[in-house]
Amino acid sequence: MNLPLAVVPAANEPSGLGHDALDACFLGPYGENDSLLEKLVVEFLRDHVYWRRNFHPEDPPAIPTRAAQQPGYQAFEAHMRRELHALSAALKKSVPFHSPRYIGHMASDLLLPGLAAQLLTLPYNPNNVSEDAAPVTVEMEVRAGLQLARMLGYPDDPARVDCAFGHLTSGGTLANYQALRLALALKAFPVALRAAGVPRSELPDLPMPGDDWQAFNLGPTASIALLDAWQKWLAALPPAQRREWHARVQAERIETLGLAEFFQRHASLQPPRVLAPVTAHYSWSKGLKLLGLGRAQLELLPERGMRLDADTLRATLERCLRERQPVLMVVGVLGTTEYGTVDPVDRIVAARTAVQPRGLGFSVHVDAAWGGYLATLFRNGDGSLRSRAEVGAGFERFPQPEVHAAFAALGDTDSVTVDPHKLGYLPYGAGAFVCRDHRAMALLAEEADYVFDGAGADDYMARYRRLGQFIPEGSKSGAAAAAVYVTHRVLPLDHAHFGQLPRQTVLATEAFHRRAQRFAAELGDCVHACVPFAPDSNLVCLALNPAGNRDVAGANAFVRRLHEELRCDPQRPLQLKEFFGSMTTLRPEAVGAEDMRRIAAQLQLDPATFDESADRLVILRHTLMNPYLIDRENGISYIDRYFDYLAARVRALA
Ligand SMILES: *Cc1c(COP(=O)(O)O)cnc(C)c1O
Repeated sequence: MNLPLAVVPAANEPSGLGHDALDACFLGPYGENDSLLEKLVVEFLRDHVYWRRNFHPEDPPAIPTRAAQQPGYQAFEAHMRRELHALSAALKKSVPFHSPRYIGHMASDLLLPGLAAQLLTLPYNPNNVSEDAAPVTVEMEVRAGLQLARMLGYPDDPARVDCAFGHLTSGGTLANYQALRLALALKAFPVALRAAGVPRSELPDLPMPGDDWQAFNLGPTASIALLDAWQKWLAALPPAQRREWHARVQAERIETLGLAEFFQRHASLQPPRVLAPVTAHYSWSKGLKLLGLGRAQLELLPERGMRLDADTLRATLERCLRERQPVLMVVGVLGTTEYGTVDPVDRIVAARTAVQPRGLGFSVHVDAAWGGYLATLFRNGDGSLRSRAEVGAGFERFPQPEVHAAFAALGDTDSVTVDPHKLGYLPYGAGAFVCRDHRAMALLAEEADYVFDGAGADDYMARYRRLGQFIPEGSKSGAAAAAVYVTHRVLPLDHAHFGQLPRQTVLATEAFHRRAQRFAAELGDCVHACVPFAPDSNLVCLALNPAGNRDVAGANAFVRRLHEELRCDPQRPLQLKEFFGSMTTLRPEAVGAEDMRRIAAQLQLDPATFDESADRLVILRHTLMNPYLIDRENGISYIDRYFDYLAARVRALA
């Protein structure tokens, strides 16, 4: 099949997305675009039926036309309807993600192109495990991976030997796990190659590592080069020899031996560590358990100014070098789950550049499950990076220089996790893993695919149509892939198109931040309030302490009571809720002593009251994703309304 490759809009399309177009993007808080969605659903459902009928029109209907009059049929229909009505009624208790009154977790309305593409694809039921079960949507998934690669600054031309590769996962959790799998495979492969006894003279252009430590620390780029040379050497051998050498190396790989046997055979190597910020999502803990390395190998590094402390990272890497402690991967988070803060990806990359030549190699992975799509703000239509001034036009303070530097450095990392089902506004079941150089994927293939010679885009596509070979899952939704691909076609991942969505949310965040400061000033007589740290993206927190209270436990009890009213409560009718918000905590060991003292002072809390019973400060957390927080049609700011509501509740509770 021949899907269009170009991501740039055709000549007759407008060069950017106007406000009018934004109005067509979602079903809308009031269901304003109901007839648009209905038209699409009916049109494509009919289209699907015609497709069935036209497969072999000479085949007569197998279900008789009179079937609908039979008692058994009618009883079944009645039963089905009853259950569906019950489901529909029960779903009315769902969380109203679509409403601008919902500013809680990382969820919002769904983009119409994605929702329609998913609904339209469902009855075809493609299974993206392989091309055999999904002749259309597997290729869409691979192309969606390339669309994301371009957004991140990775090579996205499949004709390039070092083109990136991305695939969808059930979510960010599994994408992070895939990153761990790939990093471990890349790290251990050179060790296996050495152990298999491949003669050094056979790979003359390569720095075949001299010992296990060197092999384990080549770093992803050199490891990929070694893999590439090895595959080329293998491909040139006569078949019998090729099979033999392949089997010899396979037998030494960590994936064959398992961790226990591998480290027993290479006793000079310790199992590698993963370094991640304390703010890392708990999927990293899950990932290390799943990989079998164990949670103890996850070392959490402190933050400074709410971002990974790059100095501590450097010191930790020096320590690892001294102690000959291998590092599997350093994780930076682009949009932390709790605070939306952005780690200094550029400084992580620089730290690696500094230690790699001294013998400590590892992968750099960015967990951008939340913040990945913010990268659209930083990209032009041709994929080039926008300057900080260009990105910042129209914003008050976004992007901070550190934030711009972090996004600019994405292309220098090895892999990224990004969730289309978060800031991509797509239905759940769509996370994504993207790696910078697809050649590494050969190490994850369930069957040897060294026949691949990287000759061009056709090879690339042919290889990844056997998707099930490379991914952690088996059967998976082709409809989800169609939704992601079509959405990226309708809204290309640059600042003028998709970028208009995060733009609205960052603008809303800046408005929220200003309003929060006014709130703090106006309610000074009854509560001390502050935004504990300026938002990096579109998540804003609010810390509160009733006037006169000095201890952390008292402040926490107060914020918990407030949060009770902002929380989803399945026991009470939805309509009784005014607003939805969420809650998180600030731990002194995570935030750092300096920031914690500053925040305590702003809230007039006594820092000495952080103790065993109140070891963290409970704060409100708001995710601003809804594009209608500022309703221009009716002149309503849901941000103002939220703060009015909060003021009333605070006065009542304080
Ligand atoms: C949400 C999130 C995850 C996990 O993603 P799921 O899609 O929920 O599996 C991982 N990392 C970060 C930073 C996240 O925000």
